[in-house]
Amino acid sequence: MTPSVRTVVRPGWLLEVVTGELLPDRAVVVEGDRIVEVTAAADAPVDGPLVVDLPAHTLLPGLVDCHTHLVGEPDSGHGYAELLGRTEAQETLSGVHNASATVLAGFTTVRDVGTLRAFVDVALRDAISAGWVSGPRMQVAGAYVTCSGGGGDVTGLAPDVDAVVPYGLRVGVVDTVDDVRRAVRRVLHGGADLVKLIATGAVMTPGGIPGAPELTEDQIRAAVDEAALYGAHVAAHAHGAEGIKRAVRGGVRSVEHGSLMDDEAIAMMAAAGTFLVADIYDGDYIAETGRAQGWRADVLRKNDETTLAQREGFTKCVEAGVRVAYGTDSGIYPHGLNARQFAYHVRWGQTPLEAIRSATLHAAELLGWSDRIGRIEAGWLADLVAVQGNPLEDVRLLEHVDFVMSGGAVLRNG
Ligand SMILES: [Zn+2]
Repeated sequence: MTPSVRTVVRPGWLLEVVTGELLPDRAVVVEGDRIVEVTAAADAPVDGPLVVDLPAHTLLPGLVDCHTHLVGEPDSGHGYAELLGRTEAQETLSGVHNASATVLAGFTTVRDVGTLRAFVDVALRDAISAGWVSGPRMQVAGAYVTCSGGGGDVTGLAPDVDAVVPYGLRVGVVDTVDDVRRAVRRVLHGGADLVKLIATGAVMTPGGIPGAPELTEDQIRAAVDEAALYGAHVAAHAHGAEGIKRAVRGGVRSVEHGSLMDDEAIAMMAAAGTFLVADIYDGDYIAETGRAQGWRADVLRKNDETTLAQREGFTKCVEAGVRVAYGTDSGIYPHGLNARQFAYHVRWGQTPLEAIRSATLHAAELLGWSDRIGRIEAGWLADLVAVQGNPLEDVRLLEHVDFVMSGGAVLRNG
């Protein structure tokens, strides 16, 4: 008989994210991939099991990033045409590297919302869950469902070569309502967990206008209906107010970015329970690094036009009671810096506890995984991270995670 592997983690403090309490002298007992008991440190079994003592640290649930792009090289800011210069194997191995950087930064789960090389995310998710490579547990979108020439299409090519873009880069390109249904089925049959719609123009796409809708309300509703048949939810990339409203009326589960929302859109999201996943750190990264590296002028201009508005909208959403889940658009910035956005959540209206909940409790709700991740409780997956000090006093401590456990395996300690 194989003895079950048991680990006991004894932190200085445990952050109970449901109540917001910081509890001293607790121990978390882990067997296999699950938490089996949270108890007083003095009562924890220390005979036999591996004991991890972290007396100066606060233990939190593993963090969740609800908007990543793990596949491929970080965005070069020059458009998607550069993808034609990289093989699928290169994109895949970049994904392996990015997945490792992400989990070592304390993000033990991600919702990966799109790759231009279709279904590489599915393969990466499966390789991680098989234990072949190290990375976060993943929900994946398979490909972007986008109108032709839209924010998820390969744009910026000369018109006389545009037709030769390989099918694998255009799996989710649609023009009609029937196309949308077909594309939704295609990504879900291909192994995706959710559907990612590009409902408005994008900042990073050459030629797109972030404020302009790129799908009709009928198309969005068709995607939501079709996805629901498979038990999958829909995430809508939407910057402009009209695109956000179409997405909310169409029944999407989350609005991604939400940069140019108006008061009506915010009220609609609050009433419908639509999640906001807003990458409010990236504007600074693009402005600084993008300018220093000479990214495309139209990308930099669109970034300047959306950054402040997005943050002001975030504050209004917090005040209006919109459900906020943490999502960073990693791949815009280098993977592993995902925690930098916490300070922006606090600067733009959330308490440190609410910011942490957005990446634990609320993120788990968005993913439909409230019964397995996002809290430290018996029966939940043993996804744990620790930082030195008290993150409720300084949320930036989350940028330096010293301990990471994922599904009971210690991936980082020190
Ligand atoms: Zn994105």
